[in-house]
Amino acid sequence: MKRIYLDYAATTPVDTEVLALMTQIWQDDFGNPSSIYAEGRKARMIIENARKTIAHGLNASIGEIFFTSCGTEGNNMAIKNAVRDLGVEVIISAPTEHHSVWHSLLAVERDYGVEVIYLDVDDKGRIDIVQLKSLLETTTRKVLVSLMYVNNELGTIHPIQAIADLAKAHGAYFHTDAVQAVGSYDIDVQATPISFLTCSAHKFHGPKGVGFIYINGNNIIKPLLDGGAQERNMRSGTENTAQIAGLALAFRKALDSRKERMAHISQLRTYLKNKLTEMIPDVQFHGDEQGLQHPKILSISLPENAKTEILLFNLDIHGICASGGSACSSGVESASHVLEAIGLPENRRALRVSLSHLTTLEELDRFVDVLLKVKG
Ligand code: PLP
Repeated sequence: MKRIYLDYAATTPVDTEVLALMTQIWQDDFGNPSSIYAEGRKARMIIENARKTIAHGLNASIGEIFFTSCGTEGNNMAIKNAVRDLGVEVIISAPTEHHSVWHSLLAVERDYGVEVIYLDVDDKGRIDIVQLKSLLETTTRKVLVSLMYVNNELGTIHPIQAIADLAKAHGAYFHTDAVQAVGSYDIDVQATPISFLTCSAHKFHGPKGVGFIYINGNNIIKPLLDGGAQERNMRSGTENTAQIAGLALAFRKALDSRKERMAHISQLRTYLKNKLTEMIPDVQFHGDEQGLQHPKILSISLPENAKTEILLFNLDIHGICASGGSACSSGVESASHVLEAIGLPENRRALRVSLSHLTTLEELDRFVDVLLKVKG
């Protein structure tokens, strides 16, 4: 039985060209990028070309891109540096952010006495922009707004342009966790005033363990790691040349084929949604279905019964990989804070299906057949 992977928001397989490039670099271009002889200079060139690719794709300066180990690192950096180095005393965020943001917020609250204000969200995971505006108008202290681009459990998209414009108009910094958005959307940091933007390669067919943070050039922050002063002293440690090159290639391929990939995914999503609605009358969908929604994520819920309790387990036995709540929390199935924030009733069982350009209609047909069998 060929297994069916429907969890592309958790991670994606590495693109074959990306894999080939990384293998070649691991084999041939293993010099330390800080070494001054030819092998080192070659590795340095690979990294700087990768930085150029990323900067070009975001309309940023090359000096504003710093490679990291993952999205979690970037989110920790943005929040903790903004507090430590930029004098941020208040952070406005939402209860639907990823753990790497939420737990960083708890840390700066605890360690620096920062006030964290969580905006209200509705049943689709949408923030209240009027509430954000009035908070920005009334707060006199230095503010960071931290709101994700695409929600990883619902696919709901925050209105990034409006948020960024509001933050700028009120002299606040703006951080967006764009881990689920990079590669899918055209992000232009000249047109959208963003202070910090974070990304992770493994969400768009790049390798795990590498990402980047964009830090607007006006924000002078100090490094969290002290050492050999790599990444212009922002992140010491010998750079992971092959993975950085893999990140850049995956990023470029995602942007180059963005329109086709998104069209394919949107078509599949509509097909799946229609089929589920037809076959399972009591199914519900939980993203911003009529509004700003990433098509790759379909958040579903079913009425709870003895069988839905073990739904993921049964899907797995039938060869299907899907996820319940957040798949990023180390294999532990705990109640999802996102589903709680949108008020999902306790008697509904949630399931997240996430798609990619590799997904086929046949896979979705099989998924629905199996779901009908195992849902009770
Ligand atoms: N932010 C969001 C929205 C995510 O979905 C994830 C991972 O799923 C992360 C951050 C963390 O990224 P990483 O796994 O690279 O640390």
